[in-house]
Amino acid sequence: MIGLAYVIGLDVGGTKIEGVLARAAYHGSIPKVVRKVRLQTHPSSREKTIGNIVDAVAWLYSYGKENVNGFRLGGIGIGTSGFLRNGRMEMVPNIPALKGVQLRNVLQEQLREKGINSSLHVENDSICFVLAESMWGAARGFKSAIGVIVGTGIGGGLVLDGRVYRGRNGGAGHIGHVTIDPAGPRCGCGQFGHFESWCSGKHIVMRYIAAGGKMRGTGPAAIFAAAEAGRDAVAGRVMVETYEKFGIAIAGLINTFNPEVIVLGGGVSNLPPAFYKRIAAAAGKYAYPALFRGVKIIRNRLGDDAGVLGAASLALNG
Ligand SMILES: [Zn+2]
Repeated sequence: MIGLAYVIGLDVGGTKIEGVLARAAYHGSIPKVVRKVRLQTHPSSREKTIGNIVDAVAWLYSYGKENVNGFRLGGIGIGTSGFLRNGRMEMVPNIPALKGVQLRNVLQEQLREKGINSSLHVENDSICFVLAESMWGAARGFKSAIGVIVGTGIGGGLVLDGRVYRGRNGGAGHIGHVTIDPAGPRCGCGQFGHFESWCSGKHIVMRYIAAGGKMRGTGPAAIFAAAEAGRDAVAGRVMVETYEKFGIAIAGLINTFNPEVIVLGGGVSNLPPAFYKRIAAAAGKYAYPALFRGVKIIRNRLGDDAGVLGAASLALNG
């Protein structure tokens, strides 16, 4: 950390690449973002996607060199969806073109050609999320935190006893693909009744439509609001089922890991406090009481910046 000045963090998602150049802070405070960049992901083109990742880093790097006195880059962190093993993309449902790519090596090589020789870290984006929230956000000050990102899909990351837990080959935290009730909808992974295929934003909408819901072009927020207002019986039933399945998933995490805090991210985490109250009530029915008592189930604090800051934190942690 001594002498470290700036870091670059990138969040590579299924549709876009978000990047920041941030001034690393000392004493644990949040890095200050000095410049942002956004480029497109091309899920079916390896060359274009990798090209845009390299361009995003190079652009932020040049910005720093041109605008900051005595600029020095301390490292680059990249968060991406999917399952990574030692920097190699093993499984990437959102960006199929990257499957099988040794992303860390490929990027390092292309960046070197542009004269950028900083250390480079590549990590699953859910791990980046929980790292950022643990260091600077809602889970700050807690030693054991579980991040659950509920967007189009559901991802998860584990910080246990102050350290990221990766498991045997880097795949720990795939909470979205835990079976909650096999008599449920088909998941993107091909199996049935996973946490994701019950409770992700996309699947809440799909279940609503399949159950005969009449609102069209709608999202989880509208379905939740209609359920709360009692003006749509289908929305009401779909949300009750969602809380129940969500509660079962959360209770499993609580009983298995005994965390202090579960931090939610992704689009569904933006639902109002009543949503949190309902999933906590459901989790309380299924969790072991002594482990459930005192556990916090809360919304993230860093919002859209959690991904890029978490990626940047990889460079800080080495
Ligand atoms: Zn699944």
